[in-house]
Amino acid sequence: MSDEINPKALWSLSYGLYIVASHLDDKQNGQIANTVFQVTAEPIRIAVSINKENLTHEYISKSGVFSVAVLDESTPMGFIGLFGFKSGRDTDKLSRVDFKKGITGCPIVMENALSVMEAKVVEHLDVGTHTVFIGDVVQAEVLRQGKPLTYAYYHEIKKGRSPKSAPTYRAHIEEGKHKPEKGIQDMREYRCNVCGYIYDPNAGDTDNGIAPGTPFEELPDDWVCPVCGAGKDEFSPEG
Ligand code: FE
Repeated sequence: MSDEINPKALWSLSYGLYIVASHLDDKQNGQIANTVFQVTAEPIRIAVSINKENLTHEYISKSGVFSVAVLDESTPMGFIGLFGFKSGRDTDKLSRVDFKKGITGCPIVMENALSVMEAKVVEHLDVGTHTVFIGDVVQAEVLRQGKPLTYAYYHEIKKGRSPKSAPTYRAHIEEGKHKPEKGIQDMREYRCNVCGYIYDPNAGDTDNGIAPGTPFEELPDDWVCPVCGAGKDEFSPEG
């Protein structure tokens, strides 16, 4: 990388967190995306950047339609993990959540959404690893009041991770977060093999009733990764 590019300069760009969904005949899928934005007001037109390897990419390319659900700040991590860290090739994600069919036939995720919209693709741009799909909004609806979840809130407050397929994946910090502090290294950290989340026994998992100071070995058998929902047997000790 050029010395003239400090990648940290890009980390201060701000984003939201959305579920982008599409379908192909009777198959349907959705995924987390952070790069959704309105590009024109007349007509009302939005754009989204999707990794070419994702199933949703194939469905949008072939059907020419996609939906966007704007997630609420209170969205549980397991819900985000389902759409962010599991592939629609192995998991029927939509069968596990509340969704409806839009006027284009595209599935629209309603659960944890503040608002939803549906678009028909009018243009697409090959940008390398990703395609930017540009679509005219054909239907849009406000579902409830609340604060939209931002990418920064997801990382800083919810301690969320980004899959490698995210357009804004940051290898350095995604892989190097949560180093143990000096003096409290007696309990081992464990890393989720599915999503990379690190269980820090000093911090516990207070969102799910696990007190700080709980060693990994003493977590209840039914405890699951707060990011992706993987079980304890999917974790490996760190270091
Ligand atoms: Fe996980």
